[in-house]
Amino acid sequence: MAPPKFKARGGPRAPRPERPMTEVYLDHNATQPPWPAVVRAVVETLASGGNPSSVHGRGRAARQVVEAARARVAALVGAAPEAVVFTAGATEANSLALYQAAGPVLVSAVEHPSVARARADATLVPVDAEGRLDLGALARLLAADPRPALVSVMLANNETGVVQPVAAAAGLAHEAGALFHCDAVQGPGRIALDALAAADLVSLSAHKIGGPPGVGALIARTPALLRPQIRGGGQERGLRAGTENAAGIAGFGVAAGIVAHRLAEMAAVARRRDRMEALIRSLDPDAVVFGAGAARLPNTSSIAMPGVAAEIQLVHFDLAGIAVSAGAACSSGRIEAPSVLLAMGVPDGLARTAIRVSLGLDTTDAEIDRFVAAWAALRDRTRARRCRA
Ligand code: PMP
Repeated sequence: MAPPKFKARGGPRAPRPERPMTEVYLDHNATQPPWPAVVRAVVETLASGGNPSSVHGRGRAARQVVEAARARVAALVGAAPEAVVFTAGATEANSLALYQAAGPVLVSAVEHPSVARARADATLVPVDAEGRLDLGALARLLAADPRPALVSVMLANNETGVVQPVAAAAGLAHEAGALFHCDAVQGPGRIALDALAAADLVSLSAHKIGGPPGVGALIARTPALLRPQIRGGGQERGLRAGTENAAGIAGFGVAAGIVAHRLAEMAAVARRRDRMEALIRSLDPDAVVFGAGAARLPNTSSIAMPGVAAEIQLVHFDLAGIAVSAGAACSSGRIEAPSVLLAMGVPDGLARTAIRVSLGLDTTDAEIDRFVAAWAALRDRTRARRCRA
């Protein structure tokens, strides 16, 4: 085997990152680019070094950073700092939450795979045609189960943006004696989080709010009752073993502080999103916006261009320098059957023509115009082709 190439100084040559070609980023639900203050906090904490569990000065400084971030993350959801257990992302937080259930689990039919697949035996609670949880069905399923242990319903769907009746679902779960978990990953900075007060367990992810990826938290209203899933070291009060990712946690704390103060700006984002949907509908009355009849996140749109597969649309928009996504982005570049839309009763063929457009605080009207123009160009091209055929 050929020896690795070395530069004059330092280690092996790092592969060059692909030059980003995306000019219009409309994929904020997949990941929100980090705020500059987050990048600074991550770099500074990483450069300072120190293990938060060490008793020396450097360790104590790292501990201070972690605890300051804990207070900010807790404040974001109105919880006590002691309630926050830092994890390596929301996937782990969801897994830890569902691990708490000692008996039957009920989850909504539109949960993220990290909830939906955490327990193979989970009962699915159906949603209506707009993607809203069927509260009547939840009540019936809870009544039919002699000892329901945990109900999990997300705050807002990552694909459609549809906001769930979390407080009402938590009430039903508690009446039946079950714990209530909420995957709130897509909510902070986009909608008010008051409903989370009703949840026993809440999952958050740093990179969805402009923090670094690979960091998240499970907020537990009564942490003393938590059973750890990863055991070993005594970190996170014994609830999640492993040296804390102090740099990532520092970035999470900064991001939590930023989005907590920018919620009011979401009204302008909603106006932009609504204008985009109105333009698309005026270009093509056959276009479908899913969940439009329900309360939705202000930044999210799930739109079908009937007759044009989502994969074709993604390539077209990518070539035009526009980033959007299809189905869940979290499946290693694979485009899976859009189970969220199928659960809403959308026919398979139509569901496969849906893309997700998710705006950010810095999305401009000009960017929306560029997206709509690219949408119209593809629509016209596919129509022309169909006429010739
Ligand atoms: N829940 C929801 C609703 C999500 O959108 C995501 C990310 N796609 C996750 C959980 C997983 O978060 P993470 O990437 O931090 O593991």
